[in-house]
Amino acid sequence: MTSQRTRDRLIQRLVDQGVSNQRVLDVMANTPRHIFLDEALSHRAYEDTALPIGHGQTISQPYIVARMTEILLGAGGVLSRVLEVGTGCGYQTAILAQLVDEVWSVERIRPLQDKARQRLSLLRLRNVHLRHADGHAGWPEDQLFDGIISTAAPREVPEGLLKQLAPNGVLVIPVGADTQTLTMIIRIEDTDEYKTQRLEPVRFVPLVAGTTR
Ligand code: SAH
Repeated sequence: MTSQRTRDRLIQRLVDQGVSNQRVLDVMANTPRHIFLDEALSHRAYEDTALPIGHGQTISQPYIVARMTEILLGAGGVLSRVLEVGTGCGYQTAILAQLVDEVWSVERIRPLQDKARQRLSLLRLRNVHLRHADGHAGWPEDQLFDGIISTAAPREVPEGLLKQLAPNGVLVIPVGADTQTLTMIIRIEDTDEYKTQRLEPVRFVPLVAGTTR
C-alpha cells in the first residue's frame, strides 16, 4: 500500500487534476506521506484525500498541497525564505523544505508540533524552523518572507501576514468561513499595496486564535 506503484498513481491523479510543476510532482513522488499519519491510517496515505491527525485537525489533501505549492513557486519571485502557518503533521512543511532554501513554520497545538519535528528530522530536513505560536502574527521578529502559505483558513486575511511579505512576495491562503476561496496575494514591489487573485473553492480547518499546550 506504500509501494512505488501506489505513489505513482497518486502523482498521476495530481497531473490529471492539472498540477503541472514538475519539481513539485517529483518532490511529492519522493516524499513518504505515510510517515505523517498514525499507523491506523497509514494504509490510506496515498489516497488523494485529507485525513485526521488528531486534535480535530487534518493532513491536507495531496492535490491541495501540490496546488498551493505550485502557486507559491509559480508567482515569479525567488523563494529563499518561506513561512508556513499551521504545521500540523508537517507534510506540507516537508514538501516546501525540498523546494525552497529555508522554511519557518508555526503551529498552535504543541503535541502536533512535537510530532512534526520528529518526522521532519527523520527525513533529515534541516532547513526548517518550527515554533509553537499563534500564526496570526506570522514570525514577527524575523526578516520578511518571499512566500507565505497558510494551511488554515481565516475569515479575513490577517494584517500581520501581509506586513511580513517581502517586496513582490506572495501569500497563498484559504479565506472564508463556510465557503472558502484559495486566494493569492502579491505585495506590489515595496509598497503597501497588494494584488489579490481569488483562485478556487477549498475546504480547510479554521485559523484559530491563541495556542494550546
Ligand atoms: N500543513 C498541514 C495541514 C494542517 S491543518 C499539512 O501538511 O497537512 C492546519 C493546521 O493549522 C492545524 O494543525 C491547526 O492546529 C493549525 N492552526 C490553526 N490555527 C492556527 C494559528 N492561529 N496558528 C498556527 N497554527 C494554526
